[in-house]
Amino acid sequence: MEAIVLIDGNNFYASCEQSINPNLRGKPIVILSNNDGCIIARSPEARALKIEMGIPYFKEKERLNQLGVVALSSNYSLYGDMSRRLMSLLKSYCEKLEIYSIDEVFASVSRPHDSNLYPWARELRSFIYQSLGITITIGIAENKVKAKLANKLAKTLNSSAGIFDLANVNNENDYLKKISVKSIWGVGNKTSKWLIDKGIKNAKELKDMNEYEIKKKLGVIGQRIQLELKGHKCLTVEEIRKSKKEIQVSRSFGSPITRLEDLKQALAIYTIKAAAKMRYENLKTSSITIFTRTSLYSNEIYQKSAHKKLLEATDSTSTILKIILDLAIEIYNPNYKLAKAGVLMQDLSLSDYLQKTIQLYYYDTNSMKSRNLTNTIDSLNKRFKTEALSWGITLNKKKWEMNRRLLSDTSTTDIRNIPTIII
Ligand SMILES: [Mg+2]
Repeated sequence: MEAIVLIDGNNFYASCEQSINPNLRGKPIVILSNNDGCIIARSPEARALKIEMGIPYFKEKERLNQLGVVALSSNYSLYGDMSRRLMSLLKSYCEKLEIYSIDEVFASVSRPHDSNLYPWARELRSFIYQSLGITITIGIAENKVKAKLANKLAKTLNSSAGIFDLANVNNENDYLKKISVKSIWGVGNKTSKWLIDKGIKNAKELKDMNEYEIKKKLGVIGQRIQLELKGHKCLTVEEIRKSKKEIQVSRSFGSPITRLEDLKQALAIYTIKAAAKMRYENLKTSSITIFTRTSLYSNEIYQKSAHKKLLEATDSTSTILKIILDLAIEIYNPNYKLAKAGVLMQDLSLSDYLQKTIQLYYYDTNSMKSRNLTNTIDSLNKRFKTEALSWGITLNKKKWEMNRRLLSDTSTTDIRNIPTIII
């Protein structure tokens, strides 16, 4: 019998920080959004102090200091790297894996003869903790909707110790009653409000609700949720990642931009990132958009985008850079303080299925050279885990870059930050 499992990292961002800096273990810590704006993640100790999510850091700074809370800038290269490590360790324990988010994965696992998956789950939990210093929660059930519920129960029930198998209980309904409709996977705010108005408050009541009424109001999606609550399997674990529809790299600036050179530099840096991402996914773009805007809080809002369609799809950084730098002139306006910009690579196609225009066919030797150059840059950057090689435009002072004054080390991805042990 196949079981569907939802595994997720507990307080993932905070756990990653505590994992590379053991001084932070057991301490209240909060992680801040880009530009050290708002609180976006908390350790359980910070939660216990009733520090809310989403509040602006500058408003709470003093109170946090008084409480001894450590604030950190978000370190996405650390979280991304820990996530990759987590997923590759999970692979050896599961038959199929579907990566759902940075710290969440659906897996399918065969049940042993006695159908008891607790020993497997306990071993997996301690293996991950030993390898990464991160605690995971494991929810087990017969389908995805219920695996999500089981994961929630594993987190909330004191007796569960981070593991809960919803398909192995005698009184399933009692557990379903503990889950409010708004925390069921796929039930949004609007839907949960409608359900609560109808007197449907928990997962058990949604399971038993009139099928016709659900279908009429919520369509197939609502119907699917109800069917899975009843124990049917509507969604399978999908191993193959759907290729991306577009790749976007955008950031808010640490301080506003007014000069064209700075805007060009920011867009160039984002382009280099986006193009490398695209090559990593084996994709090429044939449609490029760039945009910029003022702060949403400024008196007069300015926003503009520019777009170019390409004759032939490309993944070459230098080709795309030329286009972007031309387009930058179209969106620049010296009368506004620009707060954000971004680049979008659209109309993506897999590199293997490319059509060539006749004109470009003649330039093949040239494109071979440029391809070799790009491959060399990519492999050097991969080997040294930093921007070992980049384009000249990125080199001058970047006054506009994001504020990340409280950033932790990148000790898992950068050789220069490997911890030193002094004996
Ligand atoms: Mg999590």
